[in-house]
Amino acid sequence: MVQFTAHSNALANSMVHHSDSLQTIAPKLDYDVAIVGGGIAGITLAAALKDSGLEILIIEAQPQSVAIAKGQAYAIHLSSKRIWESIGVWPEIEPQVQPFNHVRMSDADCPYVVEFKPSDLSAKALGHVAQHRVLLKALLGFVNTCKNVTCRCPAQVVATQEFDDYVEVALQNTDSEFNDLPTIRVGLVVGADGSTSQVRQRSEIKTRSKAYWQSCLVATIQTEKFHQNTAYERFWPSGPFAILPVSTTQCRIVWTAPHAEAQALLALDETSFIEKLTERYGSQMGKLTLVGDRFLFPAKLMHSCEYVRSRLALVGDAAHSCHPVGGQGLNLGIRDVGALAQVLRDAHGKGEDIGSLQVLKRYEHWRRWENLLSLGFTDLINLMFSNNILPLVLVRRLGLWGMEHIPVLKIAALHFMAGVIGRRPTLARKMP
Ligand SMILES: Cc1cc2nc3c(=O)[nH]c(=O)nc-3n(C[C@H](O)[C@H](O)[C@H](O)COP(=O)(O)OP(=O)(O)OC[C@H]3O[C@@H](n4cnc5c(N)ncnc54)[C@H](O)[C@@H]3O)c2cc1C
Repeated sequence: MVQFTAHSNALANSMVHHSDSLQTIAPKLDYDVAIVGGGIAGITLAAALKDSGLEILIIEAQPQSVAIAKGQAYAIHLSSKRIWESIGVWPEIEPQVQPFNHVRMSDADCPYVVEFKPSDLSAKALGHVAQHRVLLKALLGFVNTCKNVTCRCPAQVVATQEFDDYVEVALQNTDSEFNDLPTIRVGLVVGADGSTSQVRQRSEIKTRSKAYWQSCLVATIQTEKFHQNTAYERFWPSGPFAILPVSTTQCRIVWTAPHAEAQALLALDETSFIEKLTERYGSQMGKLTLVGDRFLFPAKLMHSCEYVRSRLALVGDAAHSCHPVGGQGLNLGIRDVGALAQVLRDAHGKGEDIGSLQVLKRYEHWRRWENLLSLGFTDLINLMFSNNILPLVLVRRLGLWGMEHIPVLKIAALHFMAGVIGRRPTLARKMP
């Protein structure tokens, strides 16, 4: 970790020496856990630690209203839903999200369409589409009711220094000229601060990454006809094109294309964009109208070489980010959080030091390989489908045919994508 010197002498002096035996007493912590990043993963972790006996501090760099206002929407898998259900926040979220009961997956104009149904998952819906603001607002409302959770926002960590029993964290206000906040001592720092995580970078944790040749154009579309609660993933040589029902009359599109093509789509005026979109979208939902702005995200793959160090853990996009195909990113982060919350609760219950490497390694062992598998899967899907190479076209179309005709193949793929394979956190247990 990057060192800073202010206060460290005072802290070293705070070790109490008894007169009869030279005994070191651990200094009092201000918080057990400091979560850096109040995005959906960070706030879900705080919520999952409600009533854990641990004192939690959330440090978010942006004002709350700005953090909430992000125009993203996510396909939410069964595993994430189950975790939010167990935490107790799902009743607040559910009325504001759109379930989807069918997913239709196809390769360009190939006639084989693989159709997934809720019965393939033994569930009522295959998943939900939730807007960022709906999720974050509900989660923040929930943590406001947790007596053991404090939010410091807008603020950021400017330096940390690790001692044997604690980490000293220097904070700064991010929206005030009175910048300095009191330095605090915590038992564990959790980096939930997204893919450019400063917590990760400050600790000089290496990552493996790959920038794709594609960007994702995201937009909300008003449709003339009902979407029948159906989500679509259609693979084109330039990249996957996804349609997600986001409300009864609106859909979200994630249009992946080479960078230059995606930039050109972004630059089109509204009428020309809708013309282009209609060619790709098809006519199944009638006339399309653009709602709000279009956004562009470069697609990238990143995996952190370490998830934990002594007194440090990374969750969500701070630990990994992947191609948006299949809507995995946030869902993997929520499973990280479910696993970390369980490891911390169990360790705390047994009187173990929650910031020790021995405890934190349990979380890393649990999540690292599952995440790596999912990242590899999204990378492989994009590699296999985003091209016109004849042998690959034949293999993937055979694959689609196989999925449609060999139910066990289809069900295995669906279970994997929905996060119901692998070791589930206790919070996500009540799943099919
Ligand atoms: C086009 C596209 C479509 C996607 N679709 C889906 C989908 O359908 N389903 C899905 O599961 N995933 C999807 N994803 C992935 C998803 O967006 C991310 O995985 C998810 O947003 C990560 O959440 P997070 O909480 O880990 O990080 P973030 O959302 O990045 O949150 C990080 C938080 O930390 C704060 N922060 C940053 N730096 C600091 C600091 N130094 N100090 C304090 N706070 C800080 C930020 O302000 C922010 O609030 C998609 C991604 C893209 C690009």
